[in-house]
Amino acid sequence: MRQSKNFIPTLKEVPADAVIPSHILMVRAGMVRMLSAGIYSFLPLGYKVLKKIIEIIREEMDAIGGQEFHLPALNPKEIWEQTGRVEAFGDTMFHVKNRDYVLAPTHEEIMTYHAKGALKSYKDLPQIWYQIQTKFRNEPRPRSGVIRGRQFLMKDAYSFDSSWEGLDKSYEMLDKAYRKIFDRVGIKYFVVGASSGAMGGSKSEEFMVRSDAGEDTVAYCEHCGYAANVEVAQSVIEPVKRHTESREIYEISTPNVKSIDELCEFLKIDERETAKSRIYIYNDEPVLVLMSGNDEVNETKLENVLGGAVRPAHPDELKEITGADAGSIGPIGFKGRIIADLRLKDGNNLYSGANKNDYHIGGIDLKRDVPQIEYFDLRTVQSGEKCTRCGKELEVFKAIELGHIFKLGTRYSEALGAEFLDENGQSQPIIMGSYGIGVERVLACFIEQNHDEKGILWKKPLAPFDVHLLGLNMKKEVVSETSEKIYKELTGAGYDVLFDDRVDAQAGFKFNDADLIGLPVQVIVGERGLKEGTVEVKVRKTGDRAKVKTEDLLAYLKEIFK
Ligand code: ATP
Ligand code: MG
Repeated sequence: MRQSKNFIPTLKEVPADAVIPSHILMVRAGMVRMLSAGIYSFLPLGYKVLKKIIEIIREEMDAIGGQEFHLPALNPKEIWEQTGRVEAFGDTMFHVKNRDYVLAPTHEEIMTYHAKGALKSYKDLPQIWYQIQTKFRNEPRPRSGVIRGRQFLMKDAYSFDSSWEGLDKSYEMLDKAYRKIFDRVGIKYFVVGASSGAMGGSKSEEFMVRSDAGEDTVAYCEHCGYAANVEVAQSVIEPVKRHTESREIYEISTPNVKSIDELCEFLKIDERETAKSRIYIYNDEPVLVLMSGNDEVNETKLENVLGGAVRPAHPDELKEITGADAGSIGPIGFKGRIIADLRLKDGNNLYSGANKNDYHIGGIDLKRDVPQIEYFDLRTVQSGEKCTRCGKELEVFKAIELGHIFKLGTRYSEALGAEFLDENGQSQPIIMGSYGIGVERVLACFIEQNHDEKGILWKKPLAPFDVHLLGLNMKKEVVSETSEKIYKELTGAGYDVLFDDRVDAQAGFKFNDADLIGLPVQVIVGERGLKEGTVEVKVRKTGDRAKVKTEDLLAYLKEIFK
């Protein structure tokens, strides 16, 4: 393809709104342009790469017997109401004004709708259905370029089985296909146990890429390979002590003491002797959540325990519910549900807020004084804590989720009445799985892992072209003629070539563009080299350069691409 005739609008400057390398480079290399917050247009160069990713995904999905669908993005709201997900998605779902339609954020409902009545017998099962299609989510904070968009491409697949063992098998197949996809694309990833969240269902795993730009946090053990999203991760932690003797409850004046650290300082006690209270609202009711010391509540763990979305109570609500402000809240005298982290189980002689500003209570025995308390794993794992599997140290870091596989079970088939007749002629809900990959995220994550200060470092499977042919001074006949000849020769040999045949561009400009776009190999045709009958071949990733006789070029490239 000739660069002079094609639209690859590269930029020298870093776009103002871009922070992370993939975002900066995708804009600078002329792959994408932002239309509006979280909404991106793919330009020809970017779309070319996207199509390569889609093709790899498609091949691997077809290889496990997946059948490709193309469902509408515009959906009747009614179907989504039947599964309760209009409410579950809340503001994240786009609604179409004046019509009872929504823009689909995912497609469990619609696939299940088509399975209903069509997959009638156990003989029709199993099935794997998938599509590669646009999703809409009104993400409150679109950022990091295409990594979190309001419109994005997802490969979503759904498995339909007649037994739980069948679901295990389908899940296994998808898991293997995902590993193949990410290996072929050339991304370094790891798999973590995850929460099934608003989707419902039992087992779920996420395919993750380590990155400071990530919005997920994972705990990882380098020693044994344990990896889990902090939404479900656990660590070995010391429970608080139960002393042989429980003291009596007593009130302490603690003027201006708000945080756990201030309380420890003021009373000269250890963090583990304190219990911090936070109030969450679930189903319009307050729930008091009690944590040991400065341990942090993980809201996803909390939501999984309670069974739905929660939010922290607002400051004015706190006062109304407890009579005190944050920092003085506690379990004694609190009317309502109280749940605590397992670390606090049966703790005594604890200090907590008194539900009265500037007062705390000491001598709390959770067993004696808060008999209705329920214990769950609610805390957020921290770096340096011990792995529950091998006892070595866990590392906690940020990651980007590339893909997610879920065992859904019968949540959707029950809600929508998708049933089949089993071998005994009994009607049963179809057992389902759901499996997603963010296509743009694959692209962005590849660039996150493969770039340097000058630009992108493509590898063959995703590279928009194989070779960047640079004709340095195209006004010189010898350069333009030889470049044209090489262009024909390489194209004829099956290479996909981007030919910088621009007449007015300076050599330095062409070099910078070539490094920015980052094709694996550059073939540089200049007047000086041609005098000796050579061109220069540069491997973009290593920067290695070699003078190659024009007649040896094909053989030389064959070696490089071996
Ligand atoms: P996240 O936690 O990042 O919001 P999710 O759990 O909402 O992701 P799923 O509903 O499981 O994501 O969607 C499947 C895949 O779609 C994700 O693994 C991710 O790669 C991709 N994806 C989800 N939301 C977005 C988005 N806003 N922009 C781009 N890709 C997305
Ligand atoms: Mg999301």
